[in-house]
Amino acid sequence: MRLVLDWDGTVTERDTLELVVERFGDIATYRRTGELMGNGRLGHDEALAMSFATVRAPLDDVVAWAVGAVRVRHGLRELTGRHRPLIVSSGFHELIEPILAREEIEVPLLANRLDARPDGWRIRFRPARRCRRCGERCKRSALPPGDVAYVGDGYSDRCAALAATRVFAIGGLAAYLDEQAIPYESFEDLHDVARALAGEGSVR
Ligand SMILES: [Mg+2]
Ligand SMILES: [Zn+2]
Repeated sequence: MRLVLDWDGTVTERDTLELVVERFGDIATYRRTGELMGNGRLGHDEALAMSFATVRAPLDDVVAWAVGAVRVRHGLRELTGRHRPLIVSSGFHELIEPILAREEIEVPLLANRLDARPDGWRIRFRPARRCRRCGERCKRSALPPGDVAYVGDGYSDRCAALAATRVFAIGGLAAYLDEQAIPYESFEDLHDVARALAGEGSVR
């Protein structure tokens, strides 16, 4: 079984994208576009693009802040050591790779890229097909073939989670799967996921 992890709010304790917009951009735009996205009135990528257009800080400053401030969940090293997961993120290589380097972890990563312009950051989205199920350029097409265990926490994980063999969910993803009456396993840290994948039971 291949293991696929979301990054923000799943590997990291808090959503780095929200933290960056909160500190360096306009968090009201992030919240408003997030709400529109939740109601199906704005696409995920459009919401992200509108939020990050409000960030104007130099990329180096944001990376330096992120390396100092972003915390990853306990158990990341155990989990990546055992399973060599693929990380699929709607965040950015430029902000994720320095955190992975800090943690001394090397794993394959699929994410978007940034053009951090001083008049507002632009996102260079990872090439992906528009999904026939959800209508977005979602994470489903990034899943490896065969059985997949998917770990996620948010809106961008929904469609991929529906396609996975086994799902570990918290936060908004867990709430969505509850609504859909789709089973998943909960977790607090990544040791929980490692234990469950080792057949030592799940936390739910
Ligand atoms: Mg997330
Ligand atoms: Zn989809």
